[in-house]
Amino acid sequence: MAAGGLDGLIAKAYGVTLDTLGECPTREGVLAAIRAGHEAAQGLIDGIAADVATSGRRVGCKSGCAFCCHQHIAVGPAELLGMFDAVTSWAPERQAELRRRLDQDAPRIAALGHAERRAARIPCAMLDRKTGLCTAYAARPIPCRSHLSLLRTACEREFRNKGTLRPGDKPVPVLQEPKPLAGAVLVAVELALDARGLSVEPTELSLGLHTALCDPTLFDRWLAGESPFPVLAPPPESRRARLGLTYTAMIRAERERLVGQGVI
Ligand code: SF4
Repeated sequence: MAAGGLDGLIAKAYGVTLDTLGECPTREGVLAAIRAGHEAAQGLIDGIAADVATSGRRVGCKSGCAFCCHQHIAVGPAELLGMFDAVTSWAPERQAELRRRLDQDAPRIAALGHAERRAARIPCAMLDRKTGLCTAYAARPIPCRSHLSLLRTACEREFRNKGTLRPGDKPVPVLQEPKPLAGAVLVAVELALDARGLSVEPTELSLGLHTALCDPTLFDRWLAGESPFPVLAPPPESRRARLGLTYTAMIRAERERLVGQGVI
């Protein structure tokens, strides 16, 4: 861990993101800031995964294994823009096929809570259902990058049991170390976006993408300071749900703490 711990990491990534965004963020500036955040987070995650490999533990995730890609994925508008940018580089017929699939799936997804989505096993919009590969792998959001299972068979069992634990089952063991580090980078990026007047309130990845495909002007409205994406409620067992706070409120509370301690 770098000198200064997680707060030092946030301060560094916050400064880089502010500089990349500039005073009046453009679409290109946001995409560059997200790419830089992803590179920073991925470097930390890869370093931890390499350490794990030498310590006797083994990451169970493999290319084509996608049991975890069938749940609500919380993503802020900036990371969503990265996914949307990847999709709009596809051939028109491929984009049209995604749109058709989302026209079918989005109303169902919108009606489901977190546990119900897991039970329904509706795949993420970005998942190739034949190969199990992420079709926007280079732009996948930080929650996807930092979720590393230590036991593939436990993921499969949870998937088959529709997200529920049966008597005697243990939760999927997940590598914990990447989460605070990658999370700190994400918080830093969102602190910078919020400082530039851009909403960081998360949406559900497939729903947000569908909304953007239906109305590509939404990102311009977001860049103009609006919050045009459907908001994803936090899981009911989460701290944020218990406190009844918006994500923006939590990010701003974090800013107050960091400013108060002279970190940023
Ligand atoms: S964005 Fe990619 S990695 Fe993340 S849930 Fe969707 S398909 Fe899986």
